[in-house]
Amino acid sequence: MSEKNSHIRLLPPELRNQIAAGEVVERPASVLKELVENSLDAQACQIDVCLENGGQSRISVQDDGCGIPAEDLELAVTRHATSKISCLEDLERILSYGFRGEALPSIASVSRFTITSAVRDAAGQAAAHRVEVEHGLLKSSGPAALHRGTLVEVRDLFSNIPARLKFLKTPSTEFRRAQDWLARLALTR
Ligand code: ADP
Ligand code: MG
Repeated sequence: MSEKNSHIRLLPPELRNQIAAGEVVERPASVLKELVENSLDAQACQIDVCLENGGQSRISVQDDGCGIPAEDLELAVTRHATSKISCLEDLERILSYGFRGEALPSIASVSRFTITSAVRDAAGQAAAHRVEVEHGLLKSSGPAALHRGTLVEVRDLFSNIPARLKFLKTPSTEFRRAQDWLARLALTR
C-alpha cells in the first residue's frame, strides 16, 4: 500500500454509486427491471419500454404514474434517497418494490442518464422538470416538456466501465433477458 493511500478517506459519491451499481446493475435487464418497478410503484397504468442494441445503447421507460416533484428530482438521482419509507417501522410493512433508494443513482453512475418527470398542481396544471447525469455527475437540471408521468432514458450503459461492458452477451441475448423480466413483471399485474 502506497503512502498516498494509507489514510482513511470518504469515497466521492460517484464512486460510491458505482460500487453500489456493481450489485444493483448487472446488465440491461436489471436496469429495465428497476425502472419498471419504479413505474409500478408510482401507480402507472401504462408503461412504454424501448431498447436499442439489446439495451446497451439505450433503454427508455415512460410511464403515466404520479411523477416526481421538481424539487425532489436531483435528490432521487444523485443520492441514496427514497420516498417509500421514512422510519424503521415502515420496513416491516413494505408494499413497494423499491425502498433503498439505490437504483437510480447506481444506474446514473454507469451511464448517460436523463429523467424527466411531470406533476400536476392543485389547479391540474402540469409542470415538468428534467435532470441529466453523466457517469454519476450532474450535468444539467431545468424545466422540460412532459404532459404527465416520468420518462427515464439510459444511454451507453457501462461506457465508463469497460470491464462490465465485456461481461455483456450479444444484443439479442440481452434483449431476451430484458423481455423475460418485462413479461414477469407484467404477469404480476
Ligand atoms: P427506491 O425505488 O428504492 O425508492 P430508486 O432509486 O429506484 O429508489 O428511486 C428513488 C425515488 O425516486 C423513489 O423512491 C421515488 O420517489 C422516485 N421515483 C423513481 N422512479 C419513479 C417513477 N417512475 N415515478 C415516480 N417516482 C419515481
Ligand atoms: Mg426503485
